[in-house]
Amino acid sequence: MNILLIGSGGREHALAWALRKSPLLGKLYCAPGNGGIAGLAECVALDALDFDAVTEFVRARDIGFVIVGPEVPLVAGLVDHLTLNGIKAFGPTAAAARLEGSKGFTKDLCAANNIPTAAYQRFSDAAAAKAYIRKQGAPIVIKADGLAAGKGVILAETLAEAEAAVDDILGGAFGSAGAQLVVEEFLYGEEASFFVLADGKTALPLATAQDHKRVGDGDTGPNTGGMGAYSPAPVMTDEICVQTMQRIIEPTIAAMAAAGAPFKGVLFAGLMITDKGPYLIEYNTRFGDPECQVLMMRLESDLLPALLASAEGNLAGANLRWSQQAAVTVVMAACGYPGDYKKGEPIGELEAAGRTPGVQIFHAGTTAQNEKVLSNGGRVLNVTATGDTITQAVSRAYSAVDKITWPGGFCRRDIAWRALERERKGS
Ligand code: AMP
Repeated sequence: MNILLIGSGGREHALAWALRKSPLLGKLYCAPGNGGIAGLAECVALDALDFDAVTEFVRARDIGFVIVGPEVPLVAGLVDHLTLNGIKAFGPTAAAARLEGSKGFTKDLCAANNIPTAAYQRFSDAAAAKAYIRKQGAPIVIKADGLAAGKGVILAETLAEAEAAVDDILGGAFGSAGAQLVVEEFLYGEEASFFVLADGKTALPLATAQDHKRVGDGDTGPNTGGMGAYSPAPVMTDEICVQTMQRIIEPTIAAMAAAGAPFKGVLFAGLMITDKGPYLIEYNTRFGDPECQVLMMRLESDLLPALLASAEGNLAGANLRWSQQAAVTVVMAACGYPGDYKKGEPIGELEAAGRTPGVQIFHAGTTAQNEKVLSNGGRVLNVTATGDTITQAVSRAYSAVDKITWPGGFCRRDIAWRALERERKGS
């Protein structure tokens, strides 16, 4: 079966790498892809938001399945358009992708179905939002309703910061994503990510992970798309996983089906593990980037039939095998990220680094030019490794990082610090 994969990040490189292991795969195309994906798939310059162009391409190349990686085309309705045209596609419809596309929608769904989440109110009026904030007190969390590339969440320590965030969001700092906002209670606990594959009715747990959103060591500095991740997340014990399925995931899948928007695809729950159990912070309706990279390293089963079963509504009874090993990914980014940074810098010794035992290097913002790999984005490489322990996986990943020559790049040096501490203490 010929496949078109949509996206250009480390997530899509990891998906392409996993798909290439499937005996069901014919030719793999990726739009637009990157310098690393180019070694595994034919990269094509298609705009995922030009639905007619995607449909035409799929028909011309006899493509049997389209896998959509990123959220923007999902929320815009690419899967709806393909399905209407008789093309099988992986991922939620626009109506189901509202779980990621509108924070207010998800909060209302949680409230209506008793799903544990931070107490909240929705606002489109600044004065009303500020009055509510003053009543609640700080710290408090202010969120733009729509997609804001991970930047629309303000954790306000003071009332003044919270009120300024309201003015920013409703004043247009996030465009139409900020026409409404959510004000919510500040939750305390340890964060973790929980992934399931759903087919509209059934949810199959995949695996757990933790990521590092801040740019600097010790979780300091501004938020980024993610500077590293590891799987499994030790805080997600079997008991917490069962609670997450029963209290959060299953009621969500049932509510979406009852509302006529059955959820198919990957549902990624961002959780706060509080002293009262798991609370939902937010949903994403696709694999995380960089979490996907560590999940794909641990997946032993064939990915392709699982994604097909999700699209076809056939997940009941499905089972996926996961390695007991740990996986870690370290993001190498261009100096200056998440602010301004340079592109077009040569990156060397990738092959030697990739030969480190247990290591795979997934590309994000790169291009391949005359056998050379050049940086082409903020987050550029995902140096990913498995190991019998998190400690071994981390040491392999950093040993590969240290072989790569790229003076204009940097990475965090403390990825997986919580899990490493736990392993050191033997808990
Ligand atoms: P989100 O985009 O909703 O995942 O929020 C980004 C980050 O903000 C999360 O990963 C958390 O670290 C933090 N966050 C979001 N909501 C809350 C909350 N209610 N309480 C504490 N931290 C939060």
